[in-house]
Order: sequence, then structure tokens, then C-alpha cells
Amino acid sequence: MKIIQYPSPNFNERPLAAKIDCVVLHYTDVATLDEALQILTDPNRESRVSCHYVIDEDGSIYQLVPAEKRAWHAGVSSLEGRENVNDFSIGIELQNGGYYAGYALTGSWPEFPDAQINALKELLNHLMTKFPITIERIVGHEHVAPKLKIDPGPAFPWGKIRKI
Ligand SMILES: [Zn+2]
Repeated sequence: MKIIQYPSPNFNERPLAAKIDCVVLHYTDVATLDEALQILTDPNRESRVSCHYVIDEDGSIYQLVPAEKRAWHAGVSSLEGRENVNDFSIGIELQNGGYYAGYALTGSWPEFPDAQINALKELLNHLMTKFPITIERIVGHEHVAPKLKIDPGPAFPWGKIRKI
């Protein structure tokens, strides 16, 4: 698995006792990978954001923040009663027009190509060997922030991911 390093300054330390045990999946909600990388590495935005990995539609994987550090992707969130999901999760963004660069413009949700999903599965397998992440704890942003977020959205093929 080839991972392209593309460091973002947008991260901080995880709390000392935090154990990484889940993955949060997102769509980028913008038209191009370049646009996504720009946003996720910009130190000057009013609300600075990042994630650990970005996967392009062709399956290229970019690492923006080391897994051991706390990336800023989930915002106000909770999982199984635990708040601040950024503290204990790995965040993966999938390049996909989502709502704003997809559904809102065309009336249909952009698909996630097989090459992208295969790369995601490979990355998830790797992360599950490295950290105590179970299949049930591979979740969407929509699951940890249901009132605020809808990504990775209705086009995301959960069936393919659950079969890892
Ligand atoms: Zn998200």
C-alpha cells in the first residue's frame, strides 16, 4: 500500500489516556482532490480542519496527520456515549462531491468508485492490525454527529466495507 505524505499543520495531541479504537469516514463535499487538500491543510481558515487520510477517486492515499496525533475532522460528536470523537478516532476523507459539489448541483449522489473503495478497505485492514478497531467501530460522520452531518451519505457502499 503506497501512502503519499501530505502534512497538514492542523492537529494537536490526543488526551493522554486516549486509545484509538474507531474510524470515522467522511466525504470531502468539494469537486476536486486539490480543493480538499487545500482546505484540510489550511492554517488560516476560521475553523481549521484536517483528517488523517484522504483517498482520491483513483485510490491514491494521502496521509495528512500521523495516526498518533489528534486530527480535526469530527467536530461536536459522540460515539457510544463518549464525546469528542476526535480524541480516539482516525479520520478518513473520501474525495467525493457529496452534497454541495454533487447532489445540490446534479440531483444525484456521486458514486464512490471501486478503486477508491478498494484502497479504503486496504487502509482499514492495515489500521485494524495496528489499533484495537473493530468492524462495528468503522462509522460515518453521520453516525457520530447525526444532527449536524450527513456524510459519507446515501451513496456510500457500507455493504462492501462491512465485509472486510
Ligand atoms: Zn465529515
